[in-house]
Amino acid sequence: MKSDILIIGAGGAGLVSALYAHKNGAKVRVITKEYPTRSQTCMAQGGINAVLDESNDSVESHIKNTLKSAHGIADEDAIRLLCSEAPEAIEWLDSIGVCFSRTDDSKIAQRTLGGASAPRACYAQDYTGLKILHTLYDRCLAEGIEILSDKYLLDLVVDDNSVSGATVLDIRSGEVINYEANAVVIATGGYSRVYDKHSTNSTATTGDGIVTALRAGARVSDMEFVQFHPTALKNSSILISESARGAGGHLLNSKGERFVDELLPRDKVARAIFDEMEKGEEIFLDIRHLGEEFIDNELPQERKLAKLYENIDPVYDLIPIKPVAHYTMGGIEVDSTSSTIVDGLYAVGECANHRVHGANRLGGNSLLELIVFGKQAGINSAKYALKNGVKNFKPLDSLTNINHNPEIDFYKIKKELGDIFYINVGIKRDKQTLESTLKKVDTYIESLPKMGVEDVSKIYNTNLIEFLEFKNMLELSKYILIGAIHRDESRGAHFRVDTQNEDSKFKNHTIICKDGVVYED
Ligand SMILES: Cc1cc2nc3c(=O)[nH]c(=O)nc-3n(C[C@H](O)[C@H](O)[C@H](O)COP(=O)(O)OP(=O)(O)OC[C@H]3O[C@@H](n4cnc5c(N)ncnc54)[C@H](O)[C@@H]3O)c2cc1C
Repeated sequence: MKSDILIIGAGGAGLVSALYAHKNGAKVRVITKEYPTRSQTCMAQGGINAVLDESNDSVESHIKNTLKSAHGIADEDAIRLLCSEAPEAIEWLDSIGVCFSRTDDSKIAQRTLGGASAPRACYAQDYTGLKILHTLYDRCLAEGIEILSDKYLLDLVVDDNSVSGATVLDIRSGEVINYEANAVVIATGGYSRVYDKHSTNSTATTGDGIVTALRAGARVSDMEFVQFHPTALKNSSILISESARGAGGHLLNSKGERFVDELLPRDKVARAIFDEMEKGEEIFLDIRHLGEEFIDNELPQERKLAKLYENIDPVYDLIPIKPVAHYTMGGIEVDSTSSTIVDGLYAVGECANHRVHGANRLGGNSLLELIVFGKQAGINSAKYALKNGVKNFKPLDSLTNINHNPEIDFYKIKKELGDIFYINVGIKRDKQTLESTLKKVDTYIESLPKMGVEDVSKIYNTNLIEFLEFKNMLELSKYILIGAIHRDESRGAHFRVDTQNEDSKFKNHTIICKDGVVYED
């Protein structure tokens, strides 16, 4: 049963790490709570950033744009690595078969996303993440890497601050399994579903790995920075990609007026929309002038999504939109080798904080992060695992204390939490409301023993999985609030109406440990 490396999560970050760890001689096992090909990475539409043609763009500009958008709390060295390795990352993706869209002269096509000074996002129509994820999965299968689906991470096995595996629930059988490994890579994605339906994210994006790593002794940072995407469909929160604005789409209020430069970074555009909405305006994205041929060639998914979920056709109609939670900049604190402070524990992808996004991520930099830091996490965890062969493996039996006669319906609380977060911990926040929200979260946490799982079946008990995810989100919501209360300033995606300017006192990272203590680095 033992592998050198256990990778938890089969999205872009997990699969890239797996390929590089395998290439570096490690025996790799990947587990995921869903099917690998359904991981949220498949939802990415707009593109992945890289400077491919130095005649109209430069790596320095990519670095400069990323630093600017991060609002001073990113690590410049990490950003330099991200941007300078980007061309090689695209070359690698191209070489393993990702079918990027092409220009007439067969070069990889690129488009402009918000906050970028040049067309820099490489794309595959508006199915970029899907093509990348499925190609990575194909490569893993071809390399014979073991990938196990329907396995839910419960806890990490840690002894004396050294990780030696994980305790997992087999969703198919209901059995608890322990997987032994010399190193563990957490690649479980972000935590935007704390906002429940007010999020573009997949329902699986519940921050499980982040809470689990924290419980195991790792630290998390910058949890208060949650990016709101300006253009989600009004009724379903389904994303309409930034590439629609990049191609020339306009944002209009009910009077048909444009009110913001559509290509500003997301924090600014989302706030401008929010201001209009507060005045009672409805907001629309208008791409009609781009024409049917362009929309069908470059944005086919956006048209399908708008028809399916909003019952409108963007070729002829305005698209009603609203900003919702989209990306979480905070995550597991890692160093420049993707390692946490727990020996042998690595983290990568949206669940990790490599300090490249700071207070506001640039569109197209997240997929890039998966490739650049996935490679690094794979190589470094392999080196570690092959050097540190024998560990004390004391597995846990984690699934005790499930209440099968709940008095409180946790689904109701989950929805309530999402609604409260959207309003109180959203695009604009203030200290008093954040503090009262924290009290509310504390009352939910106190009521947890009265919540539970009515379904007692063992096989595919989704009621149980949803409850475990809910518990993780509830815990995480506390850390988001602690960070947001602590950060007495406005910076990037964290906008406090009671302190609206950046304050140099807070030009550092908010770091939180298991006991909830905040300190800065
Ligand atoms: C609609 C949408 C569009 C986007 N468009 C873009 C874009 O154009 N460009 C860009 O750069 N970024 C984009 N992003 C962001 C980007 O897609 C994500 O940040 C990125 O794909 C996250 O990848 P990941 O590998 O870290 O996590 P994910 O792809 O979320 O994968 C997480 C994996 O962990 C597994 N997992 C989670 N919890 C557990 C558990 N308890 N036990 C076992 N397994 C678990 C999941 O099953 C999954 O396999 C977009 C995001 C969304 C939602």
